Amino acid sequence: MIPAAPLPLQPDAPLAPVPATPTTVPRWQRLWREAVRDPHELLGLLGLEAAAAGISAAAAAQFPLRVPAGFVARMRPGDLADPLLRQVLPVDDEQRIVPGFGLDAVGDGAAKKADGVIHKYRGRALLVATGSCAVNCRYCFRRHFPYAEETAARDGWSAAVAAIAADPSIEEVILSGGDPLSLATPKLAELTAQLARVPHIKRLRIHSRLPIVLPERVDAALLQWLSALPWPRAFVVHANHANEFDASVDAAMAALRGTGAQLLNQAVLLRGVNDSVEALAALCERSFAAGVLPYYLHQLDRVAGTAHFEVPDEQARGLHAALAARLSGYLVPKLVREIPGDTGKRPV
Ligand SMILES: *Cc1c(COP(=O)(O)O)cnc(C)c1O
Ligand code: SF4
Repeated sequence: MIPAAPLPLQPDAPLAPVPATPTTVPRWQRLWREAVRDPHELLGLLGLEAAAAGISAAAAAQFPLRVPAGFVARMRPGDLADPLLRQVLPVDDEQRIVPGFGLDAVGDGAAKKADGVIHKYRGRALLVATGSCAVNCRYCFRRHFPYAEETAARDGWSAAVAAIAADPSIEEVILSGGDPLSLATPKLAELTAQLARVPHIKRLRIHSRLPIVLPERVDAALLQWLSALPWPRAFVVHANHANEFDASVDAAMAALRGTGAQLLNQAVLLRGVNDSVEALAALCERSFAAGVLPYYLHQLDRVAGTAHFEVPDEQARGLHAALAARLSGYLVPKLVREIPGDTGKRPV
């Protein structure tokens, strides 16, 4: 963002205090604040009985429900098995303790370079821009660090940018989180202005679920920021089911593509959400129709409270093979899993 030009000062005019925050709150931030947070309210909106839903107050206390109203509107009323509802509703299954499902499933603790910089793979470093997010997905590793303070924003980005500047092997910076787009656009612009001074950065990548769950985030200010960035850009969105796309998401994707970014989708394979060839094929075709190429289909990170979402590897491979037999090659995402200490995402 370009700061407003200062007004010429009259010699004797008193200095007006500069407002610390913009006086108008962007619409997406209001919609985000107004997100549904009460499981009973969510079920009520969908015409469902709370008694049948297996809601867990303990799970909700540990990792609260949070879902923007526009995402709720894409759920099927009266259907407890709705694939979008299952992704956000806190249920009893999360309280089960299952061996192999722990707290740091992806080994990020060992790969930290500086607060908020994770450099695990050659050539690319992940920058944890913020710990917050617009939606709380039940299968997320964030459920154990919902208020993560180890983000790069803490000191005005300086330690994170310095760590990247000190390592010329880093050619790609990946903005991640949490969800980087849960930061206000001027904050993002502050970060990229600092990154732009690092000569060895060749590409920027953004991983965000916000354009799917809250497409209003893709507003004029965001588009202006994206369009003005000095690097080629990849924008990886995160949709797990074809029903997550609607006209508002299509419009957001078209606008993002209009900034010149390459749009990709990553999904997580989730039992009861997208664990059928039909659901996966529909997701890949629907995302392509929105201008988004399928990139990854992830096996779940094994974090505590998510075991009921896991699809066994054998079944995952079968689904992936059936998908490849059915779709054009470019519509088939890579089936991968993250292994702590590995040099990249590993094919399953
Ligand atoms: C997933 C991930 C990346 C990106 O990997 P790609 O295979 O290039 O998509 C980079 N850094 C970290 C720490 C990651 O977890
Ligand atoms: S959008 Fe991504 S980071 Fe946010 S809760 Fe969902 S899976 Fe986690």
